Amino acid sequence: MPARYVKLRRRCEAMLDELDPPRPFSLDELRRALVRRRGRPLHLHPLPLQAAASGACGLWLATDTDDHIFYEQRTTRAHQEHIVLHEIGHMLFDHRSLRSDDFGGLAALLPDLSPRLIRRLLGRTDYTTREEQEAEMFASVLRTWQGRHDAPAPGGAGLPAGPEAALGVGTS
Ligand SMILES: [Zn+2]
Repeated sequence: MPARYVKLRRRCEAMLDELDPPRPFSLDELRRALVRRRGRPLHLHPLPLQAAASGACGLWLATDTDDHIFYEQRTTRAHQEHIVLHEIGHMLFDHRSLRSDDFGGLAALLPDLSPRLIRRLLGRTDYTTREEQEAEMFASVLRTWQGRHDAPAPGGAGLPAGPEAALGVGTS
């Protein structure tokens, strides 16, 4: 594995150490921990179906006061969780790349959020490859962490986790 990925993985592991995720892990507990830590409410929503049709499967949107993460709803629960973790990765790496034309188009699909409140709107396709790798590595490292700290989920479902999942061999 290239040294760059080893470094990135270590960086994600250090972020996780600092984050100290809830044990046993639950996405909702992680969400609460992030709210406490960041002092900003974080809301999870299924992605409007029209937005999913545009090819986005996850989206992080920051207003002046709140964070919103949208996830594709027509997929497995495990994949939904992975999408949310990936978006949390973007959030923790503080990625931002707003493009005004995407801003207008996607904001229109999110009727409960006034476009003028939206400070940052980030869609999967707006990120650089490096940013995507960072977010994906974060999600992957967190899933590996879960595997070490939690009993296997009933049914044993879950996406294959591991560094190779972060190398751009996307599942989405
Ligand atoms: Zn992404």
